[in-house]
Amino acid sequence: MSEKFETRAIRTQMERSKNSEHSSPLYLTSSFVFESAEDMSSAFAEEKKKNIYSRFTNPNTTELIQKISQMEGAEDGVAFASGMGAIYSTFATFLNSGDHIVSCNAIFGSTHTLFTKYFPRWNISTSYFPISDLNIAESLIQQNTKCIYAESPTNPGVDIIDLEAIGKLAKKHNILLIIDNCFATPYLQKPISFGADLVIHSATKLLDGQGRVLGGVTVGKKQLIEELFLFARNTGASLSPFNAWVLSKSLETLSLRVDRHSDNALKIAHQLEKQTNVNRVKYPFLKSHPQYHIAKKQMLKGGNIISFEVEGGSQAARDFIDSIKMCSISANLGDSRTIITHPASSTHTKLSEEERLKAGITDGMIRLSVGLEHHEDIWNDIKNALKN
Ligand SMILES: *Cc1c(COP(=O)(O)O)cnc(C)c1O
Repeated sequence: MSEKFETRAIRTQMERSKNSEHSSPLYLTSSFVFESAEDMSSAFAEEKKKNIYSRFTNPNTTELIQKISQMEGAEDGVAFASGMGAIYSTFATFLNSGDHIVSCNAIFGSTHTLFTKYFPRWNISTSYFPISDLNIAESLIQQNTKCIYAESPTNPGVDIIDLEAIGKLAKKHNILLIIDNCFATPYLQKPISFGADLVIHSATKLLDGQGRVLGGVTVGKKQLIEELFLFARNTGASLSPFNAWVLSKSLETLSLRVDRHSDNALKIAHQLEKQTNVNRVKYPFLKSHPQYHIAKKQMLKGGNIISFEVEGGSQAARDFIDSIKMCSISANLGDSRTIITHPASSTHTKLSEEERLKAGITDGMIRLSVGLEHHEDIWNDIKNALKN
């Protein structure tokens, strides 16, 4: 099979049934049937290879996992009902009571809630480092540190972590490196090639790309994935076959979509920088981005998320959103539709003001998920709303 990303995204398919279907069929079945007691017993002996029950495996989820694993350069993976299902299950599989996490301080809101509300109950503690200072990350490593966790680009500030440097740091201290690669997708960035042990995705975002289904996946080394598979199979946050089928189809167009998303976003980011009532425009491929050179080194393009600040704080940000005509006001991102979010009053309200500021979320900050509409139409909508 060809080694190229685009070809794999299309040609990685389950075996055809005897009906010779061209597109992969949907196996909407909770369980599978056997010829004999012996047949069933041998399936249980090899339960990751033979389909038994869709909480364990299903041809559609297997196809999706194979595709994403190939895209990320991983050996294997496990699919989950959502990105949070993947994140929670990954930590719960590998961390024990008494363990410690070193995490970047700008992380997805629900991940932050896991770290601050639930993990302390099980005596798992977390220390946070600013993404631009890996010396601080190293200084936080303790005897009981089990993993380093980071997102890059971060949500919503689109800060960039030096994946090569953090990969070396994790290796030096012999601790797991887990990366949430949701904002970049495997098309733009492959954390495993920089030393990540496990890569997590909310497939809900750009992997679906059309705002239809929830899904999550964790990929990595075979030995780690075996353990994660056992956890997932026994705890049940499994992805539905239908969602897996939708997501596998979506991946056929991932490169095309993310190319256009990124090209549109760069154009909009340049325009935003020229506006007088807009401050702190952040986009990984803008020269003004503090980690521009790192982004260039590890990403193919800049992705589709821009953050910026409307002058005038929270009220100005809300007024801007209320003046938008076409773009959607929503919490999702990575959709074909351009989406505008005000993190301080919606997705990140669970953080204290101090935590928000540490994560770079000011009252006037807007997160823009640039879609696939024509870039001139997107810009006209934003420009007009900024005038009001
Ligand atoms: C959305 C998101 C998640 C959570 O994914 P769900 O599919 O909504 O559960 C995790 N990390 C990042 C960076 C996200 O944007």
